[in-house]
Amino acid sequence: MALVTGKELLEDARKRGYAVGAFNANNLEYVQAIIEAAEEEKAPVILQASQGAIKYAGLDHIVAMVKVSAEKATVPVVLHLDHGTDFLQNVRCLRAGFTSLMFDGSSLSFEKNAAITKKIVEIAHACNVPVEAELGKVPQAGQVTREDVEALMTDPEEALKFVEITGIDSLAVAVGSVHAMREQSADLDIDRIKKISELVGIPLVLHGASGVTDEGYKDAIPAGICKINIATELNKACMKAAKEAIAKDPNVIDLRKVLKPGREAMKERVKAKMRLFGTSGKA
Ligand SMILES: [Zn+2]
Repeated sequence: MALVTGKELLEDARKRGYAVGAFNANNLEYVQAIIEAAEEEKAPVILQASQGAIKYAGLDHIVAMVKVSAEKATVPVVLHLDHGTDFLQNVRCLRAGFTSLMFDGSSLSFEKNAAITKKIVEIAHACNVPVEAELGKVPQAGQVTREDVEALMTDPEEALKFVEITGIDSLAVAVGSVHAMREQSADLDIDRIKKISELVGIPLVLHGASGVTDEGYKDAIPAGICKINIATELNKACMKAAKEAIAKDPNVIDLRKVLKPGREAMKERVKAKMRLFGTSGKA
């Protein structure tokens, strides 16, 4: 089917108490792995492109690849912009065919973040495309202590004010997870998630989720998390399988012999996450 917007998917997740996995895609093998997994699990899915992925693959290439794959799929597929850096990047992605946007103003002041987010919401909603924004900051691994992570967490009252001012459709919250963690050891503040969710009444998004434990997901979803972002774990799975393929045949010169096991490994990880998040069977 054609690409769908993230709005209905996340509202349904919120109502029925599951979370939609949002998986970062960097090239064709990622797109195939993620959509094949969604088909096999009968799960709705969000494919997202980071700024790095857009630079690497090219904006139009990403849209074309995901559109073709989504049209062939029988499950709903969303194409989401991950951590859109500014207003113009959001405009470019909206025009290119993304069906969900994000503006990350988490390094700006509250006022500036809210002002730019509001502008993006206005243009996106004119095209029926929903917008995610971030308040508080989900930091990068290796740059922060636990105290820093806690100091950067989303304040529930501020979150309410932010949602009221901007009219966003979903909110990325800083609740203890950290981007690019290689182990599952993040400690989530579940009470904070609950409090924010009750106050703002819209779907919440968990970033840095490759570092969250299986228990953490199970507690975070009923507390209000409706979208869970996974990037690092797919990279790890793909590279491990690719390295094994090279170790098995050090003289390999056909890239497909390396990427195919990488794609299979990513697909298995995506399927496992869909089962954990309760997305399987929801399409
Ligand atoms: Zn993120």
